[in-house]
Amino acid sequence: MDLRITEIFLSIQGESSHAGRPCAFVRLTGCPMRCVWCDSEYTFTGGTRISFDEIFARLKDFGCDLVEVTGGDPLAQKNVYPFITRLCDENYEVLIETGGFFPTEKIDARAKIILDVKCPASGESERNYWANLERLDAEKDEVKFVIADLNDWHFAREIIEKYDLSNNTKEILISPIFGVENLPEIAETVSRSGLKVRLNLQLHKYIWGKDVHGV
Ligand code: SF4
Repeated sequence: MDLRITEIFLSIQGESSHAGRPCAFVRLTGCPMRCVWCDSEYTFTGGTRISFDEIFARLKDFGCDLVEVTGGDPLAQKNVYPFITRLCDENYEVLIETGGFFPTEKIDARAKIILDVKCPASGESERNYWANLERLDAEKDEVKFVIADLNDWHFAREIIEKYDLSNNTKEILISPIFGVENLPEIAETVSRSGLKVRLNLQLHKYIWGKDVHGV
């Protein structure tokens, strides 16, 4: 079996409750969404087909037991499901970052899902697959709202309350787009919200700059 891969690299996890941890990233090619602020357009096409065995050999060389499978949207390739299961079988701690368009039900239950909910400024909020929010595991799964403005924040609040995410997820991530001008205002709004959320800045971009992924 194989996957179409854009890149495999070792870096620091920049987001989520795992931010700051060394992490190996397997970035799959392809995504059906077109978020206006997307920072991963280079994953939409191209890539190289790489066998599972070769991917696992690369991961072994990294010597890092935290692996994130990302994209694009990794769930766009059906082979990702047996790949995730093999990662779990080989005792990796597995994070799956998915854009929220595909159902998450076939993901191995041992993997930790970081589920994006697309807000209005993304241009893709009509394509959220809402049933994903009803099958989250509060012990390990996280939900991320990328917000470009305060309208997105109000949208996120509505979804958090509607799906009781404060109780149904391990972590609610509020992730302002990199370089947003009113970051202090967003931070103050989040801090006054009374919600159990985490302001999620993209650590890797502050370390390496916008388009660099690490070592
Ligand atoms: S889901 Fe992710 S990869 Fe796909 S367009 Fe949106 S931000 Fe880009």
